[in-house]
Amino acid sequence: MHQHTDTQKKHARTQLSGLLPGELEEAVVRLGEKRYRAVQIFSAIHSKGVDSAEGLSQIPSALRQLISGEFEISLLRPVRTSVSELHDTQKFLFTLTRLPEVKIETVLISEKGRNTVCVSTQAGCNVGCEFCATAKLGFRANLTPGEICSQVYLVKKLSGADVTNVVYMGMGEPFLNYDSVLRSLLLLTNEKGLSLPGRRITVSTVGFRQKISKFADDISLPENSSIRKVKLALSLHSTDNGIRESLIPSSSKNRLPDIYKELVYFYRMTGTKITYEYIHFPGINDNPDDIKRLASLSRMLPCNINVIPFHPISGELNGLLAPLNLGPDPDTKKLLSNHRLNDLIASLRDQKVVVNLRNSSGVDINAACGQLALAGEKHLSETH
Ligand code: SF4
Repeated sequence: MHQHTDTQKKHARTQLSGLLPGELEEAVVRLGEKRYRAVQIFSAIHSKGVDSAEGLSQIPSALRQLISGEFEISLLRPVRTSVSELHDTQKFLFTLTRLPEVKIETVLISEKGRNTVCVSTQAGCNVGCEFCATAKLGFRANLTPGEICSQVYLVKKLSGADVTNVVYMGMGEPFLNYDSVLRSLLLLTNEKGLSLPGRRITVSTVGFRQKISKFADDISLPENSSIRKVKLALSLHSTDNGIRESLIPSSSKNRLPDIYKELVYFYRMTGTKITYEYIHFPGINDNPDDIKRLASLSRMLPCNINVIPFHPISGELNGLLAPLNLGPDPDTKKLLSNHRLNDLIASLRDQKVVVNLRNSSGVDINAACGQLALAGEKHLSETH
């Protein structure tokens, strides 16, 4: 007979923080306890960030023991915090308790009175986007709902920040770990836990056919009313499918006309504006035709367009910045103030397109968009 090691047994245990209140109630009753204990446990984990059996101080010690025997409670181990010297941004490195060799990163961006946690949904990613440091890691693991939520609770605890917003824009493609992402949204917005308003959460995808429409259907279900107003962002980066394919390989099978149809459906079902993320690649997606197509896209549906400066992946400019002639090692300031970026934004505004320039929070600690790759921090202060 196959012998399980202790570690394997441990891995097989259910993660306590992944259970919704009804499921937790069933588990508590099964352990011979009163239902109301489930609410105490749920709120300790999801509202107070308790991640150990000892921390469940409101419940009797006999129940604590039963729970710690049956469930996995502590899901992530903090390894390091990197603090930006340029922006109010911190990056957190965690390992997964169930797979200690697997690491993930989470970012906290504090600006304009908001504390936004950017969570990872996968360790690594296999989509292979040309501009993304996570792609270079390949795929390592899908995160569980509890591991996604724990990033928010641990960042809150480690930084002392009151989390106001969550964006699913860290490592991984959320729609390739769909069920865990959906459940994590239900957990984060549950009124007995953190109770984060759905409209303060954004899920960002490169776009997969049938996933956007499924997401629209799922968040519109009456039982999922807490996540009905969750926002959707499409990593667009080019309105030309050929160019987009060279940047995002999965777009050869998920072509823009099909993605646009699903976005229309999403808007019809939820009434929520779409956000388009548009990393500026000079000479590649800032030509007059790009501007015309972006302008007409912006009239298709109520939307926001976020233009993001391209952040070179540490030590590599991937040729994507070559048209700027910035030399081999341009500094951040040069990258962010280049005239082609300003011209792109001005041309879009001339066409009455509502466009925001997203700044590069945490670029010095490789915490900005597309830079999460578990290494290569510069200028960082380590707190762990
Ligand atoms: Fe994956 Fe997103 Fe990076 Fe593309 S941009 S490789 S989908 S993490």
